[in-house]
Amino acid sequence: MKENQSRSCWLVVIGCLCLFPEAGSAQSPPGFTRADTLRGSNTPQRSWWDVSFYDLNVKVNPADSSISGYNAITYRVVKPGREMQIDLQMPLVVDSIVQDGLELSARRDGNAFFVTLISPQRTKAAKTISVYYHGKPTVAVRAPWDGGFVWATDTLGRKWVVTANEGLGASVWWPNKDLLSDEPDSQRIAITIPDSLLDVSNGRLRRTTPNADGSTTYEWFVDNPINNYNVAVNSGRYAHFSDTYQGEKGNLTLDFYPLDYHIDVARKQFAQVKPMMQCFEMWFGPYPWYEDGYKLVETPHLGMEHQSAVAYGNHYQNGYLGRDRSATGHGLLWDFIIIHESAHEWWGNNITMKDQADMWVHESFATYAEGLFTECQQGKKAGAEYTIGQRKLVRNDKPIVAAYGVNAEGSGDMYDKGGNMLHTIRQLVDDDARWRGILRGLNKTFWHQTVTGKQVEDYISRQSGLTLGKVFDEYLRTTKIPTLEYKLEEQKLSYRWTNVVRGFAMPVKVTTSTDRLAWIRPTESWKSVAVKLDRPEDFRVDENFYVIPKDILRPVADSTSGRRAQ
Ligand SMILES: [Zn+2]
Repeated sequence: MKENQSRSCWLVVIGCLCLFPEAGSAQSPPGFTRADTLRGSNTPQRSWWDVSFYDLNVKVNPADSSISGYNAITYRVVKPGREMQIDLQMPLVVDSIVQDGLELSARRDGNAFFVTLISPQRTKAAKTISVYYHGKPTVAVRAPWDGGFVWATDTLGRKWVVTANEGLGASVWWPNKDLLSDEPDSQRIAITIPDSLLDVSNGRLRRTTPNADGSTTYEWFVDNPINNYNVAVNSGRYAHFSDTYQGEKGNLTLDFYPLDYHIDVARKQFAQVKPMMQCFEMWFGPYPWYEDGYKLVETPHLGMEHQSAVAYGNHYQNGYLGRDRSATGHGLLWDFIIIHESAHEWWGNNITMKDQADMWVHESFATYAEGLFTECQQGKKAGAEYTIGQRKLVRNDKPIVAAYGVNAEGSGDMYDKGGNMLHTIRQLVDDDARWRGILRGLNKTFWHQTVTGKQVEDYISRQSGLTLGKVFDEYLRTTKIPTLEYKLEEQKLSYRWTNVVRGFAMPVKVTTSTDRLAWIRPTESWKSVAVKLDRPEDFRVDENFYVIPKDILRPVADSTSGRRAQ
């Protein structure tokens, strides 16, 4: 994103349709473009090399909203290859690509560059390739929901420049292999900015270097694998205070970077970090980045899970911009952005999806973590109420899991429906110690790894001893909610599942005698059981299960028309 080198843009051969088939990889699924496939799949020009280190150097120029710099990419050769795909999004310009002192040629296909290598690429060899570039990167208009650079000012009119690019991808501002399944083992991030500003990126600050032109270079180092969308610039007039947390892996440094005029309110609000850390370490295992520390950095956008440097823009108030997404009141007792975005340090950053299609691995768990934090603070009943309260936000517009290989994102139901799916599975496990063991086990087993959603599903099934395949299929791959049809005749309860995937047979708890819940095992066929209920109204389905009970003998009146009548 820097704009140094004024080398000629010799390699820009945009729209070279003649070379179309060569760039090639799989056919794009219906509704997706070739660019989607280049962005979202492990193309032949990506799969032969494995990133081990990114050395990113970027000069940020707020005066004209431009950037310039280079990324030196160190990689291991996994199998022989001669052509390499490097991603850098329009309108940024590559100035040169260099390996072993030789300038390489490349052709551009939209946001992907295909570089022809000259040096031998021997299997297992470590090689470095440097990509120099510059330009005016895409400006994020609705960060963090769209992506790019945010050229903001604080309330005193001072420059405040940050990045956010989940989904769109890190290649919106720096050249890299923009594929979720390949993370470097570590990364350097050197950001040069006008010296009135302070930059906070990921990892630890190694060095601050004043430059002759009045700028300052902040050199950050991430000592762990990092998903590239988490690499961030946060440059502003920050104050800094720190603390230490005694956690499961020893002393964890906590560093806080509010804007200077927010330091007092930040000291109060950020006190929520320690109880958050305590709760999440208890449920999920050790914080994944002790080497890199934990930071909260104020941003002009609402927030993002930037690894070890969580972006915070919730205006120092509880709830989600002051509102409770669950409408239970429990969500007003803590700061949504601190809790939700920090939960991603485990779900998203420690365990990262290999493909955007499986984003539920990030969001379903982070949303579920909100309920667990409520439980830690206010008890199990409140935690359950919080999660159940989120159900009314479910839209069932499309499935949670999207198409693979095209960087596609599924329904926003990955948040509230996904969180409720996990809460339902907890009921099926029916053993809190075991459930906690599964959540901790996921983080331990897939520690610092990228995974498929299927790996997560299989792990939960295996460790719980339950057959959960159809449960995951129902909630993640359809827009359905299981409906428990039932009828009460005398002291006989008949029941079956409808609106379910074939073979769905999830057990569920219902009242089989007054005030007592017991398991039934419905299938798609009618079954019945003797019950002892004083009145038919005493029957209920345990509301911890995200299912819809439907009394087929006494259909409920349409509540919306009822409301209209009032
Ligand atoms: Zn999230």
